[in-house]
Parts: sequence; C-alpha cells; structure tokens
Amino acid sequence: MKFTVGQQQRIRELDIHNEYIGQLEEDFADHEARDSKYKEIENRLAQKNKQRLEELTSKDFQPQLRRLTRDLSAILAEIEFTEVITPLKLARGKIERMGLTEEHPLWKQIYWLEGREYCLRPMHAPNLYDILSRLEKAISLPVKIFEVGTCFRKESSGREHLSEFTMLNLVELAPEEEPLQRLKNIVAVIMEELAIDYEITVEESEVYGETIDVLVEGIEVGSGAVGPHELDQAWDISHSWAGIGIGLERLIMAKEGFGSISRIGRSLIYQDGARLNI
Ligand code: ATP
Ligand code: MG
Repeated sequence: MKFTVGQQQRIRELDIHNEYIGQLEEDFADHEARDSKYKEIENRLAQKNKQRLEELTSKDFQPQLRRLTRDLSAILAEIEFTEVITPLKLARGKIERMGLTEEHPLWKQIYWLEGREYCLRPMHAPNLYDILSRLEKAISLPVKIFEVGTCFRKESSGREHLSEFTMLNLVELAPEEEPLQRLKNIVAVIMEELAIDYEITVEESEVYGETIDVLVEGIEVGSGAVGPHELDQAWDISHSWAGIGIGLERLIMAKEGFGSISRIGRSLIYQDGARLNI
C-alpha cells in the first residue's frame, strides 16, 4: 500500500530540498504503518519549514532572491556595468521591432494590455536595445549596462516556469575582446563570484547566429547572444555586443535543488522556499 495522493502532495509541498521525494513510492504493509510513517515525515518537514521561516524573520530578513539580486549588482559594479531601470509596460511596436510576429512561439506567451496596444515585458531586450542605441551616440565606448526586474510570460509547464519571474539581462556594446569570448568571461566572473558550478553550451542558430546557454545542475539558467546581429539595424546599433539573460529564480532553484520554481517566485503560499501553511 502506498501513500495517498493527498499525502504525497503534502510531502512534496513541504519537502524544501527534495529529501523525501524518493520515498513517495514506498510500499507499506497496512494503513497503520503508512499513516504513522506519513505523520512522522509530515512533522519533520513542517518543523523544517517553520525553522526556515524563523531564520528568515529573525536573521536573514530578506529572501534569497533579493540577496542574490544585491550580490549580482555588486559583482557587476566591480566590472563596471551600470544598472538601468526601464518600464514594465512595452508598446506593441517594440515587440514587433524584436522580430516577434504572431508565428513566433513567444508571441503566444505575451500578456497584452489596453487592446493589444501594449504588453507586459516578456524580456528586457527591447528596452536595453533602445537605451544602448542612445548611449552609443552619447557617451564613450564600451557601454556596459544591465537591468534586473520582473518579466512576464504565459507558461503552460510548471516546474521550471513562472508567469512572473526576475530576469537579469546585461549587455556590453563594443567589447574590446571578441564578443563570444567576452560573454564567456563575464559569465565566468559572475558564476565564480557566486561560487556556483556551471556548464556552457554553444549553439549555432541560423536566425540568431551563435547563442550560448548556461546550465546549472543540467537546468538552463541563462541564455546569451552576441552581435552584430540581424536585429541591430532595426535598433540603429552599429557596434558588436555581448549579452545574456539570467533567470534568478531559476538559478536559485537549480543551485538549491528545489523541486519546483514556485517555492522561490512571487507567492502567497511560499516565502523564500518555505511553505506558509504549516
Ligand atoms: P525555457 O526554454 O526554459 O522556457 P527560454 O529559453 O524561453 O527558457 P530565455 O528567453 O532564454 O528563456 O530567457 C532567459 C532566462 O530567463 C532563461 O534561461 C531562464 O533562466 C529564465 N526564464 C525564462 N522564462 C522563464 C519563466 N517562465 N520562469 C522563470 N524563469 C524563466
Ligand atoms: Mg533560453
């Protein structure tokens, strides 16, 4: 006899670090054995969640997502990237200028506003392109900027996707090194400072040229690209560039080995990995 569906679900909800995930299929001789094992696990996990909430409210005072954001800002300041703050609401034309049309898979993921005149940003790229093209003409090169903030996408699959998530997107215009090498070096600085092991895969894409993915524990946490790029002309950009977008909840999920990204996203059920209804 196995744990009931309800029991399995409750264990999953409470199991911050997937300690018990392997035991969900365990076979028991009878109800009593099963229910007493369930009680024992539930108690222990509830205790852990409670402890985590106590720590958060008496010692850390900030969820890991905020601390990561702060650390990343400091690391990027060290390598002379400047933070920019841009609107969450994008005009439709900005999406179209990114080459996104109704046929593109990302199109269906967009949250539209005001009769499709505007949308909630699904990515930082349009605003960063816009700012770069102005800075390219206004200040000396190279220009290094980043934005960190919420992006919105309609997603159907759950474990690794949130409909509102925090993306850090950095871009260096006119790098002194070859752009792909520069991108790899920036990723190395960030991941070494954060002390997170990672892998890089480089893909050759016909439309986007060379793209790189950063993986942690086999999970994609970031995607980078380099220019010159066919979109650059539409944004009046004339120098080469290296850029990458990193999902911060995804990065924490992968690093901490959480079973689901919802533990770490904006939530009324979880805070900083811990379940609230315990
Ligand atoms: P995936 O293939 O995992 O859906 P993607 O390739 O569509 O992601 P990108 O556009 O490359 O995503 O975005 C850069 C990064 O932002 C991703 O590597 C990931 O870490 C993060 N990200 C993208 N979509 C989401 C989402 N819905 N929820 C959480 N993080 C996301
Ligand atoms: Mg990607």
